[in-house]
Amino acid sequence: MNTGSSHISDSDWVARSLASVWHPCTQMQHHETLPLVALSHGKGAWLMDHQGRRYLDAVSSWWVNLFGHANPRINAALKDQLDRLEHAMLAGFTHEPVVQLSERLAALTDHHLGHCFYASDGASAVEIALKMSFHYWRNAGHPEKQEFVCLEGSYHGETVGALGVTDVPVFTEAYSGMYRRAHVVMSPDARKAADGETGVDVAARAIAAMRSFLERRSARIAAVIVEPLVQCATGMAMHDPEYLRQLRALCDEYRVHLIADEIAVGCGRTGSFFACEQAGIWPDFLCLSKGISGGYLPLSLVMTSDTIYQAFYHPDIGRGFLHSHSYTGNPLACRAALATLDIFDQDDVLASNRQRMQWLGHALSKVAAHPSVRHARQRGMIAAFDVGPAIKEGFARRCFTAALEQELLLRPIGTTVYWMPPYVLTQEEIAGLGERTLRVLDAVC
Ligand SMILES: *Cc1c(COP(=O)(O)O)cnc(C)c1O
Repeated sequence: MNTGSSHISDSDWVARSLASVWHPCTQMQHHETLPLVALSHGKGAWLMDHQGRRYLDAVSSWWVNLFGHANPRINAALKDQLDRLEHAMLAGFTHEPVVQLSERLAALTDHHLGHCFYASDGASAVEIALKMSFHYWRNAGHPEKQEFVCLEGSYHGETVGALGVTDVPVFTEAYSGMYRRAHVVMSPDARKAADGETGVDVAARAIAAMRSFLERRSARIAAVIVEPLVQCATGMAMHDPEYLRQLRALCDEYRVHLIADEIAVGCGRTGSFFACEQAGIWPDFLCLSKGISGGYLPLSLVMTSDTIYQAFYHPDIGRGFLHSHSYTGNPLACRAALATLDIFDQDDVLASNRQRMQWLGHALSKVAAHPSVRHARQRGMIAAFDVGPAIKEGFARRCFTAALEQELLLRPIGTTVYWMPPYVLTQEEIAGLGERTLRVLDAVC
C-alpha cells in the first residue's frame, strides 16, 4: 500500500483526497472547478503546498492559529509532554497540564469564572454551557426555565444542540425538523445604523428588543447566548461593547444566564484577552476553543462561576453534571494551551498586537477605497468589508481562487471578505496582505 511520501505530486494528493475525504463545509461537486490545495508543511504565517507554492494564512486556518504554524515554542512543549503523558481519563484522575491551565484561565478572569469544564470542539463547549444552564435551573427549583435566546445571525456550532441557537440559514435549513429552535432576537450589528445613527444607537435598539422579549418570556428562559463584539460566522458583524454591558444588566434583572461564546473572539482576537473585558462584564458561562491551543489540537472549555458550580455540588449523583467526552482534558492539548499562554506572557502579545492592529487598519483603509467595498470595519485583529452591490453568485469561491493566485488564503463568507491573521505578521506582510487583496478585488469584482 502506498502510504504517501513527499515526492508524490500535488495532483495525486488532490485526486486521492477527492476520492476518499469528504471535506467540511464544502459542496464536493464544486471541486470540479474549485481548486483543492494539497499542503506539505507550514511555517509561521505561511502554508506551503507540494509544488513549492506558498500562501499567507490570512484566516488563521479557520481562526485557530495564533502564533504561526510549526511554532518552535509550542512544538517544544508538545514534544516534552509526549514523553510524559499523552492522555488519561479525567474522571477519577487529574494531571499537571489541566490543573495549571484551569488555574491560569481562572486568574485571567480575576477568579470570577473559577471552574473549567473541558471538551474537544467548540460546538461541544456550547452544548455544555446550554446543558449546565438548563440543569442549574432544575437544581435551583426552576425546572420551567428550559428555553434559550440567541441573536439574529448567531453561530454557535453545528451539532444538533448548537444548531438550535444558530441562525445562519446555510447551516440550519436542511435540519430544521431535527432540533428545538431558540428564540431569535435582534442583533446589535452596527451595519444596521440608519442615517445619523451610531453603533451605540443600534445597540440601544437591540437592547430594547431584548428587554421587551424578556419582559414577556423570562420565566421560561434559561439563558441568552451571544458572540461578544463580533458575530464572526454570519459575516463579521460587529457591535458596540455597550450592548454587552446592558445585556449583562438585563440578564441580572430578569434572572437569566448570560453565555458568552468566545470560541472565535477569545484569546486576544478582539484586542483584550477576553472580548467581554471591553465591556467590563463577566458572563455566567464563557466558552473557549479555537485559539486556546494555539491552533494545534482540538480543545474547548466552559468556564463558570462558583454560584453555578455550587448548585451541582451535592451527595446526589443526579444533581451532578455527568457530561463527558473521551478526550476531556487531553494533556497534550492542555500543554499546547499552556505554551500558548506562555507566549502571551513572554512576548506581551496584547501590547504588541496594538501595533499590528494599526497596520491592519492602515491596510484596510487602502482597500476601503476600492469602488466595490462597503462597510469596512475592524475590531482588534479582525478586519472585514462587504463587496457590492452587483456581485454575482459564487463570489466567495471566485475570491478564494483568485486569492490563491496572489499567494493568499482568503475564504470570504458570502460577500464578506475578512482578515483574521495569526499574531505573527510583520508590517510588510500586513501591507502585502492589503495590496494582494486589492488585486483579488480587481480580478473578481
Ligand atoms: C467555530 C465556532 C464554534 C464551533 O466550534 P467548532 O470547534 O467548529 O465546533 C462555535 N461558536 C463560535 C462563535 C465559533 O466561531
